[in-house]
Amino acid sequence: MQRIAHLLTASTLPVLEARMLLMHVLKKTRVELITQSDYPLSETELATYLDLCQRRERGEPVAYLTGHREFFGLPLKVSADVLIPRPDTELLVELGISHAPPGSNLLDLGTGSGAIAIALARQRPDLQIWATDISAAALSVAKDNALTHACQIEFAESNWFAELPDRQWQTIVSNPPYIERDDPHLEQGDLRFEPIDALTDHADGLTAYRQIIHGATTRLTQGGWLLLEHGYDQAQSVRDLLVSNGFTGVRSWTDIAGIERVSGGTNRI
Ligand code: GLN
Repeated sequence: MQRIAHLLTASTLPVLEARMLLMHVLKKTRVELITQSDYPLSETELATYLDLCQRRERGEPVAYLTGHREFFGLPLKVSADVLIPRPDTELLVELGISHAPPGSNLLDLGTGSGAIAIALARQRPDLQIWATDISAAALSVAKDNALTHACQIEFAESNWFAELPDRQWQTIVSNPPYIERDDPHLEQGDLRFEPIDALTDHADGLTAYRQIIHGATTRLTQGGWLLLEHGYDQAQSVRDLLVSNGFTGVRSWTDIAGIERVSGGTNRI
């Protein structure tokens, strides 16, 4: 008979991960795992748990194994069709919250799980939020999440602006694929299991910025902000693209690790 306490001490996984997998399999909270630590797992529960442990040992991200990840305090459904939301991205949400004018509209390009759009919708219920993705499978995850969190979001399947109706937005945000084609990180850790097209442009890492920044010159209302998350070493390149496309007030913001993580500007032309 295998009990919770024994499985946690015997696990070869980091205890935090073993705990998350057990919480998922047993549908118990962190507190229940402690107060019910002598709970004996059924044969099916044990088999499911051991299978997840094995998949984790082979590298699958915990978020894909449990189907959930918390972002901006919100539990979100995730699947292998979407990038796992990162804490770094909370900076982009905070900037969206502080830059979008009251009662305005906002567009999130490449929404994936819907993390950014949904966090913004929860914090700023006055905004009309649109969110796109090129992947129908990703959009279906995002729609599920929006429903769970009771958010009114206009979703569109679109390659950046290409399939969107002919209109403008007062704020545009995006966390596009920015990893360079040959970056060895693509072959390491969780990234190996994430949708490759959400991670890299299969080129120099700047393709999405060129397209989004150019498109935003006509899709952003005058004075509206374009806010873009990027890699740790891309701030200068993204600022240069913003300036050369006529954006003003161009600047970058640092994340909690002190790394320039988001750059933006207004199109006050
Ligand atoms: N932040 C992710 C990483 O470096 C990449 C996500 C992206 O390309 N937008 O792991």
